[in-house]
Amino acid sequence: MIGSKINLKDMTLSDIEDFCLNLGEKRYRGEQIFRWLYKGISSISEMSNIPETFRIALDEKAYIGMVSIEKKYQSKIDGTVKYLLKLEDGNIIESVLMEYSYGLTACISTQVGCGMGCSFCASTIGGMIRDLSPGEMVDEILSMMRDSNRRISNIVLMGSGEPLANFDNVIKFLEIINSKAGLNVGMRHIAISTCGLVPQIKKLAKLDLQITLAISLHAPNDEIRKRLMPIAQKYTIKEVLDACREYIKITNKRITFEYSLIKGVNDSIENAYELSRILKGMLCHVNLIPINEIREREYKKTDSKGVKEFKAILESKGIEVTIRRELGSDINAACGQLRKNYINYMVRV
Ligand code: SAH
Repeated sequence: MIGSKINLKDMTLSDIEDFCLNLGEKRYRGEQIFRWLYKGISSISEMSNIPETFRIALDEKAYIGMVSIEKKYQSKIDGTVKYLLKLEDGNIIESVLMEYSYGLTACISTQVGCGMGCSFCASTIGGMIRDLSPGEMVDEILSMMRDSNRRISNIVLMGSGEPLANFDNVIKFLEIINSKAGLNVGMRHIAISTCGLVPQIKKLAKLDLQITLAISLHAPNDEIRKRLMPIAQKYTIKEVLDACREYIKITNKRITFEYSLIKGVNDSIENAYELSRILKGMLCHVNLIPINEIREREYKKTDSKGVKEFKAILESKGIEVTIRRELGSDINAACGQLRKNYINYMVRV
């Protein structure tokens, strides 16, 4: 919103259709307008198939929101690009573009800052500033597409912020980017990562979307989890896993458990056995992430031998495991590091 004007990018196709009807126009104008937005125009005056009188009427009520690229850093190691994007109110967020064998993947933020307080994460250090609107999340994608001049095939909501704490905006964002008339990104190509907000996981399950749900577990028991993640005071691992089982039952989708390995905290052999016990029999997969060391915290990452041993134990118990590839390590592009602590290691493009 700017004043009383509404950002067209905050609207789904059916929102825009209703908006047109309310302005006394035909419904099909909605799709015409929606299509323009995803062709990347920046002003209503560019909508050449909309009659001028309607463009003027539209301009009185609505506008096309834009975020701008404040800075851009490219990894010399693997080409990962990190963007610092400036929102209309001057807030800065980060988004990352990564190259995988299956295509270009965008990692986007869902909030400015984060209120979850995980002790190993840089995004939460300044607290939560505000939620991002659906249009701002859409614009993270559009600006990276425009800048790279390539199609983004996969999207992960794993940047700053807790997506499920911004539930309604995130769901609207998914609907917008999934639209055939828009960016047409399939739900199967989208992943959402949450620290484990139990009621919202259950709510998401009911929507039965075909997205991948990733849960930041990071500990095999509540005692360790409470040390790392304040949300563990609110929901026990059992409650989180029960919500996950409900999610799997409804969606039939495999859940990913993210487990950041921290030396001497959650990476012992006993921790690996305990983790395999609690996940036994679940349709799931574990993604091991050697913790990214951040300046503000004393945590150290598990060495690669330790990571492999941890992985081997899980596998011996029949649990599927992957080790997350570290991308953009020279530009602090890894999740959780994005707004803080970047300048020293960056290569300015
Ligand atoms: N709020 C969401 C998304 C956060 S970022 C969530 O909690 O899932 C995505 C992942 O990066 C989460 O699993 C998060 O716990 C992890 N992460 C954050 N900081 C990290 C760090 N310093 N090293 C490794 N992983 C980190």
